Amino acid sequence: ILEVNALTKTFSSGQKEITVLDDINFSIEAGDTVSIVGPSGSGKTTLLGLCAGLDRASGGSVFLDNTELNNLTEDELATLRNQKIGFVFQNFQLIPTLTALENVMVPLELHGNKNASEIATSYLSRVGLAHRMDHYPSQLSGGEQQRVAIARAFSTEPKILFADEPTGNLDGHTSDAIEELLFEINREKGTTLIIVTHDDELAHKTNAIIRLKGGQISG
Ligand code: ATP
Repeated sequence: ILEVNALTKTFSSGQKEITVLDDINFSIEAGDTVSIVGPSGSGKTTLLGLCAGLDRASGGSVFLDNTELNNLTEDELATLRNQKIGFVFQNFQLIPTLTALENVMVPLELHGNKNASEIATSYLSRVGLAHRMDHYPSQLSGGEQQRVAIARAFSTEPKILFADEPTGNLDGHTSDAIEELLFEINREKGTTLIIVTHDDELAHKTNAIIRLKGGQISG
């Protein structure tokens, strides 16, 4: 479902070019669970963003479901993200002026789904937030906000879900519950999971581990 070939990413900073990812190659089959691990600054978030079509590669290619992302226009990329990809960001990125329910409804409405409210309600119940649906993000704990973000990412039943530190900043009990939820939906719907994590225990629960070091795959 995902094939990454000779992928590089450079950023320019003043006169200098910084290579953040250098010749990355891997492929992931549909239904797999994969973690991306490595020290801070090794390029994990950058790699996730390139694979999810949130950013453009400097060289090499990313094929998602046989479509090369670099060949797409911004509009085509947005459509592909909307149709196939779910993304859980490191700091949730909920819309502060919308309730939990409205946040989860956003991508469903973008899909033109007529039952957005019912589906959003069922996913929020699924993550244990039936009693918090009318709360705004500021009225929710970090763990609750993360669960809203997960409900939002899964509500459109994406083929592939990218999650950046989905259990970072959460206490042990809450992060266990979130992990369980991710793997449950993988088993139930066959959603491919690609997870950036610092948590070794979580990494070892996935089928494969991609280890990054200084922008390259190590080991
Ligand atoms: P962490 O575990 O701390 O989140 P990471 O492995 O996810 O780190 P990235 O966020 O991918 O690392 O960043 C990799 C490197 O790229 C860092 O040195 C960072 O400073 C640099 N970088 C990321 N985005 C940009 C940008 N937009 N412009 C310039 N440099 C950037």
